[in-house]
Amino acid sequence: MEKIWLSSPTMHSEEQKFVKEAFDSNWVAPLGRNVTEFEKEISKYIGCKDAAAMSAGTHALHMCFKLAGVKQDDIVLCSDLTFAATVNPVSYVGGKQVFVDSERETWNMDPIALEKALIKYEKKVKAVVVANLYGTPAKLDEIIDICKKYDVTLIEDAAESLSAKYKGKQTGNFGKYNAISFNGNKIITTSGGGMFLSDDQDAVEKVRFYSTQARDRAPWYQHSEIGYNYRMSNIVAGIGRGQLIHIEEHKALKTEIFKRYKEELKDLPVEMNPYLECSEPNFWLSCMTIKQEFLHKVTPETIRIALEKENIESRPIWKPMHMQPVFADCDFITADDNVGEDIFKRGLCLPSDIKMTELQQQRVISVIKRCFDV
Ligand SMILES: *Cc1c(COP(=O)(O)O)cnc(C)c1O
Repeated sequence: MEKIWLSSPTMHSEEQKFVKEAFDSNWVAPLGRNVTEFEKEISKYIGCKDAAAMSAGTHALHMCFKLAGVKQDDIVLCSDLTFAATVNPVSYVGGKQVFVDSERETWNMDPIALEKALIKYEKKVKAVVVANLYGTPAKLDEIIDICKKYDVTLIEDAAESLSAKYKGKQTGNFGKYNAISFNGNKIITTSGGGMFLSDDQDAVEKVRFYSTQARDRAPWYQHSEIGYNYRMSNIVAGIGRGQLIHIEEHKALKTEIFKRYKEELKDLPVEMNPYLECSEPNFWLSCMTIKQEFLHKVTPETIRIALEKENIESRPIWKPMHMQPVFADCDFITADDNVGEDIFKRGLCLPSDIKMTELQQQRVISVIKRCFDV
């Protein structure tokens, strides 16, 4: 039986056109027109002043923490329920992660727990990084207000939420510094890459400087600071330009997939991942949680294995960062009752590939139903 993927790249024809232009002009590197144009196109799409294309979303996040001035032993308050790439770059700059639990309405950073963490660590906190999990915007207004109140820099990790909206505005520019990703499984992909976004044009220029080895303005190679080799190539940017043309179409397909799961699974003791009325998720991944009282009978692992037997890929929810061995010595702040751990125990990411046909999705749904004996 044909494999059904969680979320795989979907290519069109325009990508090749932009890549071909780069080849034909022999401008495969360095940087070039595709990079410049892709930065402009993304800035316009998101509604931010400027953007710097990077070779990975993780590198864009590294630049966010660097620009926020996070240094040795500074604390960064981080989303707990997220992919490790949100929080690893804190360590690249010598900072220390403190993890903030999720709330139940979006699965993202709980503003109440955030304020608790700010009261506990006060002046030691240099920045806050919030991820929009699975393409669902966090309670961004509340988080922004708290960051203002305590005068800390907000960084938005919109790696999973490109094209999602919060109160009518695109995610990816709610922080002072922001990052998106074009990794292979994201809503649009460049095969690999990311972007640093900000309304602060000086900051974006600085990121361009740091990510091209921090070369001073001099005829010879002179360096006053440590630099990185983080820029996106002109070939990769060409793929991105072709993909961006299709982003709304990708989002519409993801939304349809989510709605179909929601409708078809409504009689089972499961819930789909929640979102706020004032937001418009991109439904990058459709996720479900099994109701606690049924866990003795069916676990996410039961379903994952049943799907795997049918050549269908699904994936556990991100394991919370405070449960990771590498972060064993980091503090964790919760306002409720360890929400992230509960979602992790009861949740599963379902196939959300936009090339999945309705018939294939029905196959997924029937396997899930079978696990519940219906
Ligand atoms: C994918 C992802 C990243 C990192 O992006 P890369 O481009 O793979 O480096 C960061 N944060 C989150 C939440 C992600 O899902």
